[in-house]
Amino acid sequence: MTLVPHKKAKALKPSSRRPAKELCSECGLCDTHYIHYVKEACAFINQQIPELEEQTHGRSRDLDKSDDLYFGVSQDMMAARKTEPIAGAQWTGIVSTIAIEMLTHGLVEGVICVQNTEDDRFQPKPIIATTPEEILAARVNKPTLSPNLSVLELVEQSGMKRLLVIGVGCQIQALRAVEKKLGLEKLYVLGTPCTDNVTRAGLQKFLDTTSRSPKTVVYYEFMQDFQVHFKHEDGSTELVPFFGLKTNQLKDVFAPSCLSCFDYVNSLADLVVGYMGAPFGWQWIVVRNDRGQEMLDLVQDQIETQPVMSKGDRHQAVQQSIPAYDKAITLPMWAAKLMGVVIEKIGPKGLEYARFSIDSHFTRNYLYVKRNYPEKLEQHVPGYAKRIIEQYKLPE
Ligand code: FAD
Ligand code: SF4
Repeated sequence: MTLVPHKKAKALKPSSRRPAKELCSECGLCDTHYIHYVKEACAFINQQIPELEEQTHGRSRDLDKSDDLYFGVSQDMMAARKTEPIAGAQWTGIVSTIAIEMLTHGLVEGVICVQNTEDDRFQPKPIIATTPEEILAARVNKPTLSPNLSVLELVEQSGMKRLLVIGVGCQIQALRAVEKKLGLEKLYVLGTPCTDNVTRAGLQKFLDTTSRSPKTVVYYEFMQDFQVHFKHEDGSTELVPFFGLKTNQLKDVFAPSCLSCFDYVNSLADLVVGYMGAPFGWQWIVVRNDRGQEMLDLVQDQIETQPVMSKGDRHQAVQQSIPAYDKAITLPMWAAKLMGVVIEKIGPKGLEYARFSIDSHFTRNYLYVKRNYPEKLEQHVPGYAKRIIEQYKLPE
């Protein structure tokens, strides 16, 4: 792939430093001089996942293989959890542990990760960590758009040659597109899946409409039991069923970038650590290439693992959820709880749950792009996503 600096980049005014405009996910690239490459690199201007898969993993995904189609290029997949979880991590802290081991073993000199600002636990503050303490301080999700790549220039200035980047799909697509321009000897990428992210203001609206005590939420996750789990400052957990979310008020809360994203599983990371393909309480690991395996090997003695499993059939639930979301139907809480209990008992589990989540988001996002950016539809939706969406009947 040849990257040509965008000719007009120097002429861009500060107000137009986000060429993806309202689709910008604030990945941070445009806060650096790498903005010169934005027209080629931005995930929302130039979707190029198959080409970048080839560049990163040596091949792009095989659309005729179900696991490739859904989860991207991989050489291994498993469920795992730390035998001694890190307190305050999002799940058991596998991501933070790998990053710390990479640094202390001298495989990298720095780690791009994201802490929060002093006065707001959800306001992201990207950093290049050079100590285990700084990595630990970045644990737990900042469930907001985060400009992780804004510190890329500092990598160059510091003279670092071996780097680990932790990030979500849109950040990693832009990173891969400029990777060869960074002057690094070795780049490792540790990714997480990501969906339904929000701006800081959007997050407040989500918390205010969904939680009983928005001010005390320290963490939340949409979990495999079809409930949102909010953890509060006092250690208590609040459960809200997915089907009870106030969809009519929340429909416009998710960032336009996330409503038009088709890289839920972070296709271009070397190693992906999420949860959605694993049984409840476990994390889901996708090893995409040898660099990913090298990272995972560093923590083998700190984790227990089990093979991935798959149970149930998601198709009917996905098909039914399409018009329900479209019409912003919200169930009364008693019905939502009941539905949650039933689906939890008979619904999709393990990899089938991950497919359920991917199908639901891809169909929703396809409709969003088709209705709001019809001119982008053909180029922006990758072939694998089209193949997945074709399984369902969509409203106009
Ligand atoms: P920890 O050890 O707690 O480390 C978390 C790491 O995430 C930190 O290193 C930090 O730098 C990084 N991070 C935090 N916030 C951001 C951010 N906004 N952008 C980039 N990096 C960030 N997994 C799924 O399976 N399905 C999902 O739908 C899903 N959605 C997610 C949405 C977001 C916004 C994020 C950040 C992650 C999501 N994940 C999802 C991943 C999952 O929630 C956990 O982050 C993952 O399993 C790692 O857990 P851990 O305990 O090992 O991480
Ligand atoms: Fe720039 Fe990133 Fe926004 Fe695209 S998503 S316009 S690359 S900051």
